[in-house]
Amino acid sequence: MAPGGSVSQSAKKHDMYTASAWLFLVTMLLVGWAVLSLHDKDTRAAIVATAWALIFASPIPLFIWPSTCGYTNTRGRPCPEPSYGFLLGCRRYYHWWPKLLVRIRLLKEAQRQVERHQQTRDTAIPQSASGDSVPLVRVADSPLSLCGAWAGIISAATGVIALIIH
Ligand SMILES: [Zn+2]
Repeated sequence: MAPGGSVSQSAKKHDMYTASAWLFLVTMLLVGWAVLSLHDKDTRAAIVATAWALIFASPIPLFIWPSTCGYTNTRGRPCPEPSYGFLLGCRRYYHWWPKLLVRIRLLKEAQRQVERHQQTRDTAIPQSASGDSVPLVRVADSPLSLCGAWAGIISAATGVIALIIH
């Protein structure tokens, strides 16, 4: 048990909930602006406001909302470390980028990165299977975390594209 660690972790969680609340507030103001613009028949302003609303809302599910890592290696145990947002994994075990790689189905690359990091940092992990077989790394997702990750990606992309077009 490390009480200090859990205290700083819950403080960080609290900060992340606060950040989510602020982003949510900005999003709601932008949605309000979009509604008022529609009311004034100003479609262009409404689209721009909606695009900014999507851009401000998307970091909440992507990078901020407290969650657990869930990166699952070939031995099949989901990583219980806390992570922030549903897109990336924990930093402690270097599941940060690899979790994203698993999401976009680059399974081999994800496993290679995690193993390379573990070998340089800790004791070498014995390699059981040959490198040719497809590894069974995956992300232990709940429906919420899966929807959150993709909703964040889609809303960020939609917002950016809408701003570029208009
Ligand atoms: Zn992890």
